[in-house]
Amino acid sequence: SAEYDVQINELIRETISFLESEANSNNITLNLHFDDALPVIRTDGSQVQQALLNLIENSLDAVGSGGQIDITTSRSPKEVSIQIADNGPGIKPEVLAKIWEPFFTTKEPGKGTGLGLSICSDIAHKLGGEIIAENRPQGGAQFTLKLPIRG
Ligand code: ADP
Ligand code: MG
Repeated sequence: SAEYDVQINELIRETISFLESEANSNNITLNLHFDDALPVIRTDGSQVQQALLNLIENSLDAVGSGGQIDITTSRSPKEVSIQIADNGPGIKPEVLAKIWEPFFTTKEPGKGTGLGLSICSDIAHKLGGEIIAENRPQGGAQFTLKLPIRG
C-alpha cells in the first residue's frame, strides 16, 4: 500500500465534503471535534478515507432526520484515534457479534452489501491499527479507528 504523510483532520474534512450534501438533504448534522495537536502520520490516506466513508455512510443510514454524527480525533503516545459516533438506534448484541463478517447486513436487499465493515477491519489491520465498535451509554453506536503514529 502507498504510505505518505497524512494530516488526519484534513483527510476527514475532505472525506466529509463527499457526504455533506447527503447529510444536508436528510437534515443530519456532522459535528467535528478535532484535536489540533494531532501529529501527521505515515499511512495510506486513501485506505483511511475508504474506511471513514464506510463508517460515516453507516451512521448516515442509522440516524433519521435530525440525526447527529460526531467525529472526534484524539491522540495517545502511540496512536491517533478517529471516533465516529451517532445518535441512531445503536447495535443489538446479537448483531454486534456479526458486523465484521463479510456480507452480513441488516439492511433491505439492495440497500447494503454487508461489506463495509469487513473492509474497514481489513484496512485497520493492514495499516497496523484496530477498529472498535461499541454502543454509547446515551444510545447510538460509535466506531473508533486507531492508527499507529510512526515515521
Ligand atoms: P451494510 O452497511 O452494507 O449493511 P456494513 O458492513 O457496513 O454493511 O454494516 C453491517 C451492519 O452493521 C449493518 O447492516 C448494521 O446492522 C450494522 N451497523 C453498522 N454501522 C451501524 C451504526 N452506525 N448504527 C447501527 N448499526 C450499524
Ligand atoms: Mg455499510
